[in-house]
Amino acid sequence: MCIFCQIIEKKVASNIIFENDRVLAFRDIHPKAPVHALMVTRKHIRSVNDLDSDDEKDISALLLAAKEVAQKLNVAKGYKLAFNVERAGGQVIDHIHMHLLAWPNDLKEADGHKQKEVMTL
Ligand code: AMP
Ligand code: ZN
Repeated sequence: MCIFCQIIEKKVASNIIFENDRVLAFRDIHPKAPVHALMVTRKHIRSVNDLDSDDEKDISALLLAAKEVAQKLNVAKGYKLAFNVERAGGQVIDHIHMHLLAWPNDLKEADGHKQKEVMTL
C-alpha cells in the first residue's frame, strides 16, 4: 500500500487539516513554503495521467478541499496549487495529490524572485 493510502487509513500518522468522504488534506512533512499542505483523493489514482472520466468528482473535491484548507490556514488571500506529474514533472509519490503552498508574510506580487521560487516548486 502506498504511503498516502496508509495516511488515509490512519496507519501512518499525519497532521490532518481537513477530510471528507472523497479527500484528505494534511501538512507536507518537508514543507517547501511556510504553509505547505497536500490534498489527496481517498481513491488511489497513480497520477494525473491515469485520470478518467469516472474520477471527475474526486478531482473536483481536491479543489474544493484546497479552498477549505486555505481558509483554515488563513492563507485565502493568496496561494499556489500544483500537481507534479510523473518523475520528469517532479512526482515522487505515486498517488495523485495537489500541493497548496503559501507565503503569507513575504510573497509580494511584484517580487520576481519570490514568484520564480513559487513557479519552480
Ligand atoms: P511529489 O513530489 O509531488 O510526489 O510530492 C510528494 C510530497 O509528499 C513531498 O512534498 C513530500 O515532502 C511529501 N511527503 C512524503 N511523505 C510524507 C508523509 N509521510 N507525510 C506528509 N507528507 C509527505
Ligand atoms: Zn495510494
